[in-house]
Amino acid sequence: MAKNNNRSILSERLQKYMQSKSMRNTPEREALLDALHKFKRRFTIDDLEKHFAESNFKLSRATLYNNIHLFESAGILKCHKISSHKASYEVVYSDTPLSGYQEICTICGKIRDFTDPELAKQVQARKSRFFRPEYFAVQIYGICYACLRKRKKEKLNNINQ
Ligand SMILES: [Zn+2]
Repeated sequence: MAKNNNRSILSERLQKYMQSKSMRNTPEREALLDALHKFKRRFTIDDLEKHFAESNFKLSRATLYNNIHLFESAGILKCHKISSHKASYEVVYSDTPLSGYQEICTICGKIRDFTDPELAKQVQARKSRFFRPEYFAVQIYGICYACLRKRKKEKLNNINQ
């Protein structure tokens, strides 16, 4: 049920966007919309390619790229690009984005989401005569503990060699 609701939210957003651009819907776009629900959090274009390779629906890489960009413009997908890592995509279900922060590992590219009511209060308190804050997104870059452990291990191995 929830999944169907989510599907219709995305579908409506796509229809609206395409109408505004005088574009028509295609079976490829519908297949891509369906595929988005297979991924829980973030995914890469490689994940999508793999998904379509395993399904009966054939989608070329070029078509996939074009439609990913279209979905981004339509506000259905949000792209995360971290230094040398492959871009990852996140499905945007809600019209009102969540306020919070993300911890992003610069080594493995892993992203974790957090909410922080204290930070949210501080941002809300910043409203002025000229501006009303609605949401915020803070990105904190660093190294995750898994990568730190791996790094430590590698260092030890180098010393022992
Ligand atoms: Zn990491």
